[in-house]
Amino acid sequence: MKKRLLILGGTTEATELAAKAAGIPNLEVISSLAGRTQQPSNPAGTVRSGGFGGIAGLINYLQDQRIDLLIDATHPFAAQISWNAATAVDRVSIPRLSIVRPAWESEPNWIEVESNEAAAAILPDLAQRIFLTIGRQELSTFAYLTELWFLMRMIDPPVAGTPIPRGEVLLARAPFSVEQERSWMQDYEIQAIVSKNSGGDATVSKLMAARELKLPVVMVQRPSMPPGLCASEVKAALVWINQQL
Ligand code: NAP
Repeated sequence: MKKRLLILGGTTEATELAAKAAGIPNLEVISSLAGRTQQPSNPAGTVRSGGFGGIAGLINYLQDQRIDLLIDATHPFAAQISWNAATAVDRVSIPRLSIVRPAWESEPNWIEVESNEAAAAILPDLAQRIFLTIGRQELSTFAYLTELWFLMRMIDPPVAGTPIPRGEVLLARAPFSVEQERSWMQDYEIQAIVSKNSGGDATVSKLMAARELKLPVVMVQRPSMPPGLCASEVKAALVWINQQL
């Protein structure tokens, strides 16, 4: 009888894992996406989309779909779903592994802050023209800074009606080259960058370009995540899956 793996996704690691896990005999792979991105890169195997309806909804899903194991491969800043998953798997007693990509290491031009709110608070003393690379969901945190100008990069446009800061929206999907990042920073006369410490290769070029151009980077630290077994890369997650079969 095949075992059923649920991958909580929305990251490159999740897509890579789904592709590789699909080749494991006696395993059925189901990927779950939040459904925020209009044209997501669809993982291999079965894909479901949209929230589960909190912890209770996720417990129901795990039971209804007879899920045997869960891998939380969501983004390091997607804390809510990770905490929900940790609670839900405990209730239904199935194993869980999290894929947590290593954070980027601190650099001298970084100012590390705890949250987007803290990032917004220091910006007026730091720069006038800012490259905001935190995605589209938390833009409204910066909207009150009407004296500043923002270049806001995201995959899909902001949701209509959401307050966003003054500036320009740049629709683009990672990965980006250092050259591309450098020319955006120069063309828009950027004086500071705001980033989340997402880690990984896809968006690291902005940090290299900022270092070259000697621009400060306001780096938002990761939220706290539930304790439990973690892998830093897909390869280790595949080993874990095979151990569970
Ligand atoms: P979040 O704050 O942790 O989750 C908010 C709610 O969205 C969850 O309670 C859940 O709704 C739903 N959700 C999130 N991830 C889901 C998934 N993989 N499958 C089904 N439902 C999911 O998450 P977020 O920060 O909004 O991120 C949403 C998605 O975007 C995640 O898949 C994440 O991997 C991806 N992503 C996030 C970031 C980021 O910076 N936050 C960056 C890149 C990609 P219910 O409570 O209704 O189940």
